[in-house]
Amino acid sequence: MNKYKIWIDEAWRWPWLWAVVACALCFHPENTPSKEFLNQINDSKKLTQKKREKLYAQLIELSRGENPKVYFWVWVVDNYVIDEINIKQANKEAMRRALVELLRKIPNDEITTVMIDGNDNYAFDELTKKPIFIIWWDGKITEIWAASIIAKVFRDQLMNTYASLYPDLWIENHKWYGTKKHREFLSDKWKVTGIHRASYKPVKAILEAKPKLLLHICCGPDATVPIVDLKKDYEVICFWYDPNIQPKREHDKRLWELKKICEIEWVEWIEWEYDVQNFFKKIQWLEATPERWEKCTECYDMRLDRTAKEAKKLWITYWTSTLNTSPHKDLEKMFRLWDKHSLKESLEFLKIAFRKNKGFERSVEYTKKHNIYRQNYCGCIYSDTYPGGKQQFLDKLKEKKK
Ligand code: SF4
Repeated sequence: MNKYKIWIDEAWRWPWLWAVVACALCFHPENTPSKEFLNQINDSKKLTQKKREKLYAQLIELSRGENPKVYFWVWVVDNYVIDEINIKQANKEAMRRALVELLRKIPNDEITTVMIDGNDNYAFDELTKKPIFIIWWDGKITEIWAASIIAKVFRDQLMNTYASLYPDLWIENHKWYGTKKHREFLSDKWKVTGIHRASYKPVKAILEAKPKLLLHICCGPDATVPIVDLKKDYEVICFWYDPNIQPKREHDKRLWELKKICEIEWVEWIEWEYDVQNFFKKIQWLEATPERWEKCTECYDMRLDRTAKEAKKLWITYWTSTLNTSPHKDLEKMFRLWDKHSLKESLEFLKIAFRKNKGFERSVEYTKKHNIYRQNYCGCIYSDTYPGGKQQFLDKLKEKKK
């Protein structure tokens, strides 16, 4: 008497998305499918998608009715389980569950062998005999080809449904394997979806990456402590924007020093243009106000507004500024401005007073150690300590405005 032989194959160990699918299958030992049909079955990789889908539909048809010619079962183990128990165990579990369900359909005592494509070499508690594992079987055996067609089409059809749920992911282009396009898509943590295999290297790398933070820089010395401290938890991108520094050569000198620090600390930087005319326009009529008062509020606001816009443009949620390193700045005033711009651009500002916990002293130490230039006035010609004194500019201004 002919006995049932069970064949098991799995699909999609390698993709970064969703489940692994296994199919356990056997043909009826006497009531076998026609030769004509069996001749059409081939290695699923060699079949077109259309042909695979046609054979899949025919195999389902052959498994129906009172005298089926084909018996099969499919089991899906999703990405959450894969992440928990690893892909090898998830694969085994998918095969085991597919087998257990298939065993309900056929008499147990009439099973001769269970054969599996691959070299995993594990045993199932449900079987008295160990399955036979053979590598490269799916290149030779019709039943393995049939199981493989079922597993692949079953998974592909479900992936097509996910493709409509995640249109930006272009699942149709990389449902089988990780691709360059998929890697490019995964540029940020929030792009990792609920169907990604979080334990897979490229996905894991994104999930474990530090969040990006845009750090507004007003001068090199004030940037030292923030860069060193923030680097521990964030991918820091420095943003230089100081249109208030006069003369231009002083601006360039301070920018040069910042670049030196960025190179020492291995962080990226972005420079914004020297739009000094806009700065003068912004503080017009406020020039004579003392440092930390109205002209400075406008000055902080201008720099923070530009930085927040840049963060928004770069899709960076976190931002902060080195303005709060200097003990000469009004911290409360700046916190209010930061709230205003964060709200406007939907960003999250890190309210850290870098000057605290010896921040200023540490920055002095750093600049000495690395020979970084430290300025002795805030920036504009109306700074209280501008060399030569601000009074001469204010007198000139008074004359002009008369
Ligand atoms: S003193 Fe400093 S903060 Fe105030 S306006 Fe001038 S550069 Fe800006």
